[in-house]
Amino acid sequence: MKLATFTHAGRTAIGRVGDDARVSDLSSVVGDRTLLQVIDDWDVLGPAIAAAGELAVVAEPRLCAPIPVPRNLYAVGKNYRDHVQEFGRSGYDHPDRSTDIPPVPVVFSKVPTSVTGPFDDIDPHLAITSELDYEAELAVIIGRGGRGIHRDQALEHVWGYTIINDVTARDLQREGQQWTISKSLDTFAPMGLWAVTADEVGDPTRLEASSHVNGKPRQKAPVTDLIFDIPQLISNISAGITLRAGDIIATGTPAGVGIGFTPPRFLAPGDVVECAITGLGSLRNTVGNPA
Ligand code: MG
Repeated sequence: MKLATFTHAGRTAIGRVGDDARVSDLSSVVGDRTLLQVIDDWDVLGPAIAAAGELAVVAEPRLCAPIPVPRNLYAVGKNYRDHVQEFGRSGYDHPDRSTDIPPVPVVFSKVPTSVTGPFDDIDPHLAITSELDYEAELAVIIGRGGRGIHRDQALEHVWGYTIINDVTARDLQREGQQWTISKSLDTFAPMGLWAVTADEVGDPTRLEASSHVNGKPRQKAPVTDLIFDIPQLISNISAGITLRAGDIIATGTPAGVGIGFTPPRFLAPGDVVECAITGLGSLRNTVGNPA
């Protein structure tokens, strides 16, 4: 099933999304819980949501990120071969500047305050960056937490999936020599449209990630192109870090980001960025104009 977090008439609530993309209010089933709290109690609430009959359809809900404040938002750099090439060539992979395939996953954090909604504006932060870039990514939502998760059992810990645009300030990424700040500015993690449960997605490797800027295609690659697949990422991260329900892992982006072009094609105020994953929908965020 697809579950959304929405606001309507000044209230934030959880909704079930129908095949027609209409959102039904789940308040009668889950009360005022957040989706994070619903996932925490999924063994009870999952069946209750599935068994809920007719629910009131919400007229013109505003979709928020399905998990507006994740506990942890992990992300993975250099996890598609062609993107490793374009990133290494670009000179922005400072100080590494390598086109070699990483021997282990390059895991970093985006701070939870970077999350914004699937149709919200991206703040261009013009006072501190002039090199704004986009990265369409399949994101994994952890269900049952754990540590030392073996890759053979890893998918049993996946609750579902969503889309994240791993927005990046390339100048800050290069100058900072690590990635936390450059990828964590406010609004740098558009997420949504909703969270889709693992059983509905089925095999995530048959999905495809893509992006468009102002309607023009930029990225397009199957998830099978991941260098480190989802079970490997869960295994690597959880080797010494306890994963918890609702933790999110953005799995990496394919080639076709702005710095992959010569000269680079950075985002500017007014640009519209769409990031899609087959079956999960498409984020559509406008780079905001400075106030
Ligand atoms: Mg990324």
